[in-house]
Amino acid sequence: MRVDFAEVKRRFPIARVLSVLGAPKMRTEGGRLRGPCPVCEPRATNGRRFSADAKRGGWKCFGCGGKGSALDLFRLATGLPLKEAAVELCRRGGEPVPYLETRGRPRWGGVDVDEANQRFSEARR
Ligand SMILES: [Zn+2]
Repeated sequence: MRVDFAEVKRRFPIARVLSVLGAPKMRTEGGRLRGPCPVCEPRATNGRRFSADAKRGGWKCFGCGGKGSALDLFRLATGLPLKEAAVELCRRGGEPVPYLETRGRPRWGGVDVDEANQRFSEARR
């Protein structure tokens, strides 16, 4: 079964992903959240390498150079592949995993379209 990544992203804005990851409370600076990076300094309680746009959900880290969506943050912080990361995020957040019907969805070379897009955006980094 395929995970509805768009729905996972809707349910888990960046602030919720940070709380699921157990990240310390971030400072707010001009609509951005600043704090230690959950990817490259997961045990830090203080810092400002990590910068996230609280409204739009994008983030980047000035330490490890990581960036992406809220789901990317969880994926990189846990080291899980995209689909497993989405399932695990729902599990830890206490949400049922949203699944898509597999029939009638466009596929690209036999690869899941969301995963193909994910690989494409990773390859561009
Ligand atoms: Zn980092």
